Amino acid sequence: MYILSGYRYHLSEGPWLQLDDITSQPTTRHHVPIWEQAISIKPLETRYCIGGYDLLTRRSICCPDKCQISGQHPYCFTCSRSIQFNPAFYHVAPSQLSSHQQHYNLEPHTVYLAYFGKNMVKVGIAHTQRLYNRWLEQGARAAVVVQDMQDAYAARSLEAWISANYRIPERVTSGQKQQYLHMPYHFDEASMALRYCLNLISEESDGLSANHPIQDLQAYYFAKKQPSTLYEPTKERQHMIAGLVIGMVGEVLIYKQQGYNFIQPMKQFLGRAQVVFKEASQPLTVNIQTKLDLFG
Ligand SMILES: [Zn+2]
Repeated sequence: MYILSGYRYHLSEGPWLQLDDITSQPTTRHHVPIWEQAISIKPLETRYCIGGYDLLTRRSICCPDKCQISGQHPYCFTCSRSIQFNPAFYHVAPSQLSSHQQHYNLEPHTVYLAYFGKNMVKVGIAHTQRLYNRWLEQGARAAVVVQDMQDAYAARSLEAWISANYRIPERVTSGQKQQYLHMPYHFDEASMALRYCLNLISEESDGLSANHPIQDLQAYYFAKKQPSTLYEPTKERQHMIAGLVIGMVGEVLIYKQQGYNFIQPMKQFLGRAQVVFKEASQPLTVNIQTKLDLFG
């Protein structure tokens, strides 16, 4: 039985699901490309731990104990302790961070601007080697580097300065991102919005270049063109999600069933959904009232 334990992006193969086969001994982990795949996602009554981190290999690993868990977080106690990563590291003394994170924070980090739609731009930081993955995991449609910095602390201080001075948010909610998915995306609009912010920032700060190229991220999400009309999931449909995968943007899966394109956020299913490939899709009634018709 393959349990959804994560998702990631491959720069040429598109979105992948991370699946843990909990029926094998020990649990085995698989990364499966999903573009154009017939897929079924079946929510489970039980929630399984989605695994932790191996400090020696510096890789994420499946839960060694196949733990069943309850509560908000998708980790058992042991896996949760192994991760020990504090995203708000700047609120605590470095000595209070895990030794792994202390080391990680001293590696090069990059400050960036990411575009989500309709002039919504956020500022963020990421480990320089993980920059593209970070953009794609968040579902940014386009992005640009502001500056490469020596470590996470320098990057955080530039990020906070940009956010405070130019009122550029540091966060975009998943609800906002989902709404932007219904809007047509045009790279030239994204490019103008990002270039405008970048020019403002670089005008007032010595040493910041405004010349970094704007990256269009759309091709990493969709095998072909993004469908123009997307339908929202309803509670009734969530007992069985099945169809052909068109693409995935951040955590939101987009699949086609009976000629309609549906969106389905996946974070809620981490540890608590079984994923099956190439199973014949179940015919389900499509409720076209569920279309979120924001733009006529
Ligand atoms: Zn665990």
